[in-house]
Amino acid sequence: MDPHDALTEIATLLERERSSRYKSKAFRAAADAIAGLSEAELRDFAALRRRKGIGDSTFAVIQQALSGEVPAYLADLRERAGVQRASTLRPKLRGDLHSHSDWSDGLTSIDLMVAAARALGHEYLALTDHSPRLRVANGLSPDRLRTQLEVVAGMSGDGFTLLSGIEVDILEDGALDQEPELLDELDVVVASAHSKLRMERGPMTRRLVAAVSSPHVDVLGHVTGRLVEGSRGTRPPSTFDAKAVFEACAAHGVAVEINSRPERQDPPDDLMTLALELGCLFAIDSDAHAPGQLSLLDYGAERAERLGVPAERIVTTWPLERLRAWTGRERDA
Ligand SMILES: [Zn+2]
Ligand SMILES: [Zn+2]
Repeated sequence: MDPHDALTEIATLLERERSSRYKSKAFRAAADAIAGLSEAELRDFAALRRRKGIGDSTFAVIQQALSGEVPAYLADLRERAGVQRASTLRPKLRGDLHSHSDWSDGLTSIDLMVAAARALGHEYLALTDHSPRLRVANGLSPDRLRTQLEVVAGMSGDGFTLLSGIEVDILEDGALDQEPELLDELDVVVASAHSKLRMERGPMTRRLVAAVSSPHVDVLGHVTGRLVEGSRGTRPPSTFDAKAVFEACAAHGVAVEINSRPERQDPPDDLMTLALELGCLFAIDSDAHAPGQLSLLDYGAERAERLGVPAERIVTTWPLERLRAWTGRERDA
C-alpha cells in the first residue's frame, strides 16, 4: 500500500469520527513530510525516523504500508467507519453549502477541502468561513473575506464549482455580522446564531425571524444550536416560536439547514417535521471543519429520509444551475 495514501486516509477517517484535530493534523503533516520521496528514500528507515513530522505512530504506518499490509491503525479506523448506513437520498445530493477552511476555524487549506469534495463526487461546495464577531473561530474581517474571494474564484473547473460564501453570525438583534455589499457578492449565505443561545423565547424568535427576512440569507444554519453528544459536551436547544421562524423561512425562500454533524443533529426530529409541514426548503450540509468531515452528509441524508423529507424540497439535490437561480432569486429588501 502507498504510505502517503495510508496516512491521508487515516487523517480523513479520524476527521470523520471527529477525534482530536491534533491527531489528524499529525497524520496530514507526516503525509506532507514524505510527499515526493522515492521508495528507496522511504526504506532508509533511520533517515526517515529523523525526518521532521514523523512520529512513532506515523513511522509505524509507513513501515507497515511499505511491507504490503494495510497498516493496523488504518485497519481499525476502516472497521469503525464500516458501519455504513444505507440511504437512497444520499446519492441524490450533489454538493454541500456549509464548510470551513483554515481561514477561520477549519483544519486545512481550501485546496484540501476542494480535493476531498471532488473525491466524494460533489459537483459543488460552498466555502462558508465564519464572520468577524466570532473571534474564537478567527472570523474573517471584510478585508480578509475580499482576499478569500480572489482565491475561491480560481478553484473551480473540471465539472466542480467552489461557491463563495459565509457562515454569517446572527447578532443579538437579528442583524448580520458582515457588510451588506459583501454579502451581496457571495454565492451562498448561511446565517447561524453562535452566541446568546439562551435568550428568552420572544427575543430569540424575533432575532431568527429578522435574520431569515434579510434579503441576503439563503440558509438558516443549525437552527436550535443544540449539542447532543461529543467532546464539547451537550447543550439544550434554544427556545423560540418555531412555527413563526419556519413560516418566515418559507415566505422568504430560505432553506432550513439539516446539519449533518452527529453532535448537532439539528433541527431535532419534531422541528424538522414542522418545517416540512410549513413548506420549507432544506439544505443537507456537513458543516465540515476538515476534509474527512465532508462525508458526514451520510448522517443528514439518513435523518431526512427517515423523516420523509422529499428530495425535491432539498436544494442540495438540485442541479447547480437551479441552485444558483435560487440563491440569486429576487427578494424584497
Ligand atoms: Zn455554526
Ligand atoms: Zn459552520
